Amino acid sequence: MEAYQKFREYLVSELDDIRSAGLYKEERIIVSPQSVKIRLKSGEEVLNFCANNYLGLSDHPGLIAAANRAMENRGYGMSSVRFICGTQDLHKQLEATIARFFGTEDTILYAACFDANGGVFEPLLNENDAIISDALNHASIIDGVRLCKAVRYRYANANIEDLELQLQAAQQQRFRLIVTDGVFSMDGNAAPLDRIYALAQKYDAMVMVDESHSAGVVGKTGRGTTEQFNLRGKIDILTGTLGKAFGGAIGGFTTGKKEIIALLRQRSRPYLFSNSLPPSVVNAGIYAFDYLEKSNTLQDKLHENTSYFVDKMQKAGFDIKPTQSAICAVMLYDAKLSQDMATQLLKEGIYVTGFYYPVVPKGQARIRVQLSAAHEKEHLDKCIKAFTKTGKELAVLK
Ligand SMILES: *Cc1c(COP(=O)(O)O)cnc(C)c1O
Repeated sequence: MEAYQKFREYLVSELDDIRSAGLYKEERIIVSPQSVKIRLKSGEEVLNFCANNYLGLSDHPGLIAAANRAMENRGYGMSSVRFICGTQDLHKQLEATIARFFGTEDTILYAACFDANGGVFEPLLNENDAIISDALNHASIIDGVRLCKAVRYRYANANIEDLELQLQAAQQQRFRLIVTDGVFSMDGNAAPLDRIYALAQKYDAMVMVDESHSAGVVGKTGRGTTEQFNLRGKIDILTGTLGKAFGGAIGGFTTGKKEIIALLRQRSRPYLFSNSLPPSVVNAGIYAFDYLEKSNTLQDKLHENTSYFVDKMQKAGFDIKPTQSAICAVMLYDAKLSQDMATQLLKEGIYVTGFYYPVVPKGQARIRVQLSAAHEKEHLDKCIKAFTKTGKELAVLK
């Protein structure tokens, strides 16, 4: 038998297993720009409540114009990694802009935050060191930690008592690094960074925060969890994405102490061995960060929208997880119910996604709603009305 023939049978049976467990992920096809109102291939026009488009920048004319200008003046692609011939003035400008935004010393760009997290641990730490990681950290942090020889410690999600135990256990190692998501994407809770920082001081540890879901969102001016907890400039390493609040195209970064960034430029493998970001993306990124420094309109509107939505949904009788971000988890507990409700909501013109095991713990199924500064009151009201209607039809509400 041909080698692929046997392998094919194996693949088909794996795919069947995924399907019969009800875990097969279908992709819905959008035929419009990413926005509040999107058009699906099936012809429906729906309101989008499941994008990471927190500030509504995905189709912002300012970002599009900045991308076009850079495309005209600096071309389409870089055809090089950064250290050979892939660094334009624009890349250095975006790195400085990001550092200014977060109050850090220097920044290094990556093709994605997945790469930033994948390439941050191995160059900095070795088998003499310890990484103390939140149990619910993003997959890219988990993978990045796997690539590093440091001793691994894990603490229960946002659990300070457990973190303290792990820090005590890690006192033998040379250096300690606590790593946490700034906002956890399934519940929308923020890491208790003030208490994490205090423990880090007590137990001689450094801190790294992945601000992917918190940057642009959390804190009065959207500077992330370091703003929220009054720790601007105090956290050693921050990572983040350009793929969520800041326009949603592609790109990631690590920002923090300048010696850390300097060593990453020398040794971080996804930086050394992967292509440089295109000028269009870089220039739109510069525009986005500058815009958010000049004006707080989008951040304010996102905060207003989130409180309005959460408040109205609670008043309607829904069970909402306490949120500290623009993520609102509508708890349904039952997996099938979460799927049925999402399907019903789509018929009402509301695009949301139901999450259930293994993405969230068993019996914790939910619909995750993500708010955006691009939502208007009428959109929020339409969404709340649709939730209330389907909630009654499916006996979620009395
Ligand atoms: C989305 C996300 C990432 C991945 O970012 P990309 O730039 O899309 O690779 C990493 N970490 C966290 C916490 C995220 O939410």
